[in-house]
Amino acid sequence: MQLLDGKYTAEQIKAEIAEEVVRIKARGGKIPHLAAVLVGNDGASETYVAAKVTDCKQVGFDSTLIRLPADISEETLLGHIDQLNRNPDIDGFIVQVPLPEHIDETRVTLAIAPEKDVDGFAPASVGRMCLGLPTFISATPNGVMELLRRYNIETSGKHCVVVGRSNIVGTPMSILMSRNSNPGNATVTLVHSRTPNMVEICQSADILIVAIGKPDFITADMVKQGAVVVDVGITRVNDSSRASGFRLVGDVHFESVKEKCSFITPVPGGVGPMTRASLLQNTLKAQTLRPQI
Ligand code: NAP
Repeated sequence: MQLLDGKYTAEQIKAEIAEEVVRIKARGGKIPHLAAVLVGNDGASETYVAAKVTDCKQVGFDSTLIRLPADISEETLLGHIDQLNRNPDIDGFIVQVPLPEHIDETRVTLAIAPEKDVDGFAPASVGRMCLGLPTFISATPNGVMELLRRYNIETSGKHCVVVGRSNIVGTPMSILMSRNSNPGNATVTLVHSRTPNMVEICQSADILIVAIGKPDFITADMVKQGAVVVDVGITRVNDSSRASGFRLVGDVHFESVKEKCSFITPVPGGVGPMTRASLLQNTLKAQTLRPQI
């Protein structure tokens, strides 16, 4: 078994982006600028946004963090989004989710200008991805594709099973793997909570990509000998032996599955860092390829 080392690969990608920023500076170009909107004080969201700002610093991007109170009205939030859409200095921006319950996330997503939608969640971005047009691909599926590409994983003609059908992970993942591209060209089966014969389908996967949010759900008996296993899941599980009081657990039972597969992503250190690197790639794209998007 070989690890698909997302931490190492993400560092490589960040170094490449940092080199590109040096080249942009040298030719007097505009430094990519990412803005992040954080509504309220959700602990996990604070951590994620802080990490995104740190990543920007590491590669030499400009970044702006816009903190807004949890009780902000939807209209006022939409006003901030309108300003970001119009601000020529901001190349791309994200609105960290989850948003407070009184705010309609769909309305917010729809308000983001497609050419600045570096999260790739907006309908225009998803539609363009389905058609294979230049666009922003949502960070997690894009990160998985990049990891498969950099490890030269053969996907053409393989059976890829994607477990989970969320709009931000499972569904785009299944579309990307079925497209005429490399990685891609796989025969894809998308399974979810209503799939009756899930175990059997997983057992036939050459490539198994799991995104359900159920710790240790995929066990060795569900995995084909020699399969490539990508674990997107991240769940905080209480662990009093850790200073933090918790540890991160994936959807795949790593210890048993690692004995059976050819490649596997660890949790942490697999898909998570690749997701962060993808947001930087999208921000660079927003600055350099905007006319095409
Ligand atoms: P989500 O929106 O909750 O979707 C979960 C999906 O899993 C749903 O489609 C659901 O099916 C399916 N599912 C749930 N239980 C199942 C079961 N027993 N059998 C088969 N399918 C089942 O989750 P998400 O946003 O995609 O996230 C999934 C996991 O990935 C979470 O742990 C999340 O934290 C993690 N994640 C990690 C990253 C990263 O950067 N590594 C990024 C995003 C998400 P139904 O549609 O039928 O309900």
